Parts: sequence; structure tokens; C-alpha cells
Amino acid sequence: MEMDMVELREQTAGLLNDIGVATASIKGGTLAVRSPVNGETLAYVPEISVEDARQAIDIAHDAALEWRKVPAPVRGELVRLLGEELRADKEKLGRLVSIEVGKSPSEGLGEVQEMIDICDFAVGLSRQLHGLTIATERPEHRMMETWHPLGAIGIISAFNFPVAVWSWNAALALICGNAIIWKPSEKTPLTALATHAIFERALKRFAQAPQGLSRLLIGGRDVGEALVDHPKVPLVSATGSTAMGRIVGQKLAGRFARAILELGGNNAAIVTPSADLDLALRGVAFAAMGTAGQRCTTLRRLFVHRSIHAAFVARLKAAYESVSVGNPLDGHLVGPLIDEASFERMQSALNAAREAGGIVHGGTRVTVDGCEGGIYVRPALVEMPGQAGPVLEETFAPILYVMVYDALDDAIALQNDVSQGLSSAIFSNDLREAERFVSHEGSDCGIANVNIGTSGAEIGGAFGGEKETGGGRESGSDAWKGYMRRATNTINYGRSLPLAQGVSFDV
Ligand code: NAD
Repeated sequence: MEMDMVELREQTAGLLNDIGVATASIKGGTLAVRSPVNGETLAYVPEISVEDARQAIDIAHDAALEWRKVPAPVRGELVRLLGEELRADKEKLGRLVSIEVGKSPSEGLGEVQEMIDICDFAVGLSRQLHGLTIATERPEHRMMETWHPLGAIGIISAFNFPVAVWSWNAALALICGNAIIWKPSEKTPLTALATHAIFERALKRFAQAPQGLSRLLIGGRDVGEALVDHPKVPLVSATGSTAMGRIVGQKLAGRFARAILELGGNNAAIVTPSADLDLALRGVAFAAMGTAGQRCTTLRRLFVHRSIHAAFVARLKAAYESVSVGNPLDGHLVGPLIDEASFERMQSALNAAREAGGIVHGGTRVTVDGCEGGIYVRPALVEMPGQAGPVLEETFAPILYVMVYDALDDAIALQNDVSQGLSSAIFSNDLREAERFVSHEGSDCGIANVNIGTSGAEIGGAFGGEKETGGGRESGSDAWKGYMRRATNTINYGRSLPLAQGVSFDV
């Protein structure tokens, strides 16, 4: 089906209207929103001034003081309602994600499903914000931990998961008793407005929420900086490039605020001789080419054992040549890059790879009928003689560097020998190899998978990575602890005052 450009803009306006976004929020503003699908300008969104952003943060701070009084399981009810509203508008929001970011319908819907999943998780968690009871060395004493809300917390998100990342943070932060302030990517304000409208609907159905519990700050880097610098924001969870995280992390450290940093990845997989090669091929193809290489967990480096290298790379090349590149709304597997700058960065990485002795397959511009304003590219498979130059960096585009290895320990050392530490995988049916990979001597990443690609995490596990990926954890497991402060309480229910460590101080 040919995509009519005007139709796309009208579709977007219709979807936003149905979801409940006011027309004033998408018209007459300074922020032009462009669909990567066909380059069409979808809306002009008004931006908040830095001064107004600071005021909004003050209001959220006051709201947090009220919200913390609401019992956690009751707070969970608000997140349950959010999940209900998201279910009701899953198709619409999913479609908007696909239009604004250029994802396939299935991936757009998947992103909203992830939001629903984290809401379900957070509702259950709202009754499980446990602290420990700890044995004390003093008679007639009890020691325990309690977990308390932090205040109004900041969420800065990236373009490529424009709404799921908000929900990972928002659902947990809310049940933990915090107010939330969201600075979405300036490339994706429409899905942010839609998500916020959906949240407002949940709020309307919930009597106990204070005014200003959630704030949306549409704007650029200066607005993000206002959030990072505001003294009433005790925690900022920031998702984006390592360059952004380096600035944000240092600023937060400078005022002793907390940071959850979810930054770039340079993810690798190892294919061993014992691997199920059909499964490995599918796992590699999805992880490397899915979302046009624009996931933080995208597979960017591949180490293949010498004994299977030639045969496996030949199959990969065939997959790269045949994968359908085109309008993602029509179901093509590889959609557009987010913008022209991204294409330029991809081309300069490929040129650098050639200079370093790499053989590049693909990576060329593709013209898509009806989507001439979009930036489409055939994913690139690059056979590299070694791990050098652009292989050491994250280029946010579909480039997979393939290298050969002989000994597993060498492959693991190479996979770890980059500055990022987000996701990793091994394809192997050898128990020793697989266990070694996930052990302390194996992958140094926050995510280490066996017989699964590097991307596509579930919300039940803690998500995040080491080194220049920032060290933060979001989503499942005990990531909620990052959104609360811990107090250790020692209670003396006796009539004497024994001191710890047997210290005496008799007055
Ligand atoms: P980006 O760093 O350009 O922008 C991310 C967000 O940070 C935007 O909202 C932007 O306005 C804001 N920002 C930028 N500079 C800032 C500053 N100095 N102070 C405050 N805010 C600032 O990233 P992007 O291009 O939108 O996204 C792609 C990057 O995000 C990739 O590197 C990718 O790996 C990473 N990413 C990481 C994860 C993860 O969970 N680890 C998830 C998604 C994306």
C-alpha cells in the first residue's frame, strides 16, 4: 500500500484527538515533529520555558509530599487504572509509536504491551515494598529496615522507546510514593502527550491523587538541564546516549542527587561450534536488524568460531540481502532511520570500517515508494579483521561487525573489551560454554543471555548495564529500591540502654 503523506498527518491528529490530547498541545508551537516513515511534519508542538519547567517541578514536589501519605497498596490502584486505560488504547498508542518512531505495527503494539506489563508488575509490588528485620546484638532491641518515598523524581527519555521507558520508571516511582516529572525526547513529543493524556484519564478515576502528581515537560536539552539542576529533584532516571549521561551524571553527583543512568550499548554475541545454527541465525537477525538497529540492546558485534565462520556468514549475508526494507506501517521488517544525521553517522562508521580493512555488505540508501522523505537503508554486515575503530563505538544504526575467533576465552575477552556493558549473548549447546559465559569470568554486561539475542528484554528482570552504560537498573526484580530511600531503625523496648560493641558510657 502506498502511504499518502497527508493521510499520515491526519491519522496522527485523529489518534491524538481520540486519546484526549487537546488540539492546543499540537498546534502553533515551535517544535516540529517529523515522522521518519515519510518525512512528513506531523505537528508543531508548543515547548515549555525553563522558568515554567521550574515551576512545574515545584508543584510536583508539593504533590509528592501529599502522595507519600497515601498507603502503597492504594497507590497501586492508580497504576492499575493506568494499566486499564493503556489496554483500552493499546491499538491507538501503538499506532502513534509506529508513526512517530517508524516501528512496525507489531513493535509499536509491543511497546504498549510492555507498559501494560510493568503496570501489572507494579500493582503487585505495591504490596511488597519489604524491608528486612535484622537480628541485633543488644537484648530487648529490634532492628529493621523501612523504605520511604524520595520525592518528585525526574524521567528523561530517548526517542527509540518513547513511551515504554517512561512507564518502567513511572509505574515503579508512583507505587513507591513519588511524584513524576517527564522530559521526553524532543523527537517524540506526540507519543508523550498521548501517554500523558492516558495517565490523566486514570487520574480522573482516582480520588486520592494530589494536583500535579505527574508533569510533562516538552522541550529540548535546556528543559532537561532544568530538571537535572533543580534542587528539589532527588533522583533523575535518564535514558539516552553516553554523552548525555556523562553530563547528567556529573551534574547530579555535584549536588549529591541520585541518578539511574540507562545509556548506550555496544552489544555482542558469540556463536560457538555447538550452536543450533538455525536458531542462532534468527536470533542474530532480529537482534541486529530489528527496529533498524535503533535499540540500545541492538546486536552490534558478532564473534563466530572459525570452524563455522564461512558457512554462518554466508547464511547471514543471504538474510541481510533478502530482509524487507520499507514502510514499517505496511509490515516491512526494517523501517527507517530516525533522521538524516543518523544516516550520516552510519556512513562515516562504514567508511571508517573500510579503512580499518573491513568488507562492507549493504549499508546503502533504499528508496521506498511513497516514503521518499524517509531515510531507509539496507542493514550493513561488515566482515572485520579485528576489533578496532568504529567497532569500539555505538553507532545507532543497523551495522553488524562480524569477527572470527578460535578460543572461547578470547571471544569473551573481546566481547568485554569495549567501554559499554549493556547486553550480550552466547549461542551454544555446550553446558560448559554457556555456564562460563554467564559466570563471573564471562560476560561483564548487565544482560547476558544464552540462545537468545541481545534485545527484547522482559519487564520481570532488572534492566540496565555496566561501565559506560551507566550502571542503573530499571523495571523488574528489586529495581524499585532505586526509587526509595532506606532507613535502618533500631528500637529498644527494654528499660536499660546497652550500647553496641559493648561500649560503656555510664554517667
Ligand atoms: P540523546 O542522548 O540524544 O537524548 C536522550 C534524552 O536526553 C533526550 O530527551 C534529550 O533531550 C536529553 N538530553 C540530552 N542532553 C541533555 C542534557 N545535557 N541534560 C539533560 N537532558 C539532556 O539520545 P537519543 O538519540 O534520544 O537515544 C539514543 C541513545 O539512547 C542511544 O545511545 C541508546 O543506546 C540509548 N538508549 C539507552 C537505553 C538503555 O536503557 N540503556 C534505552 C534506550 C536508548
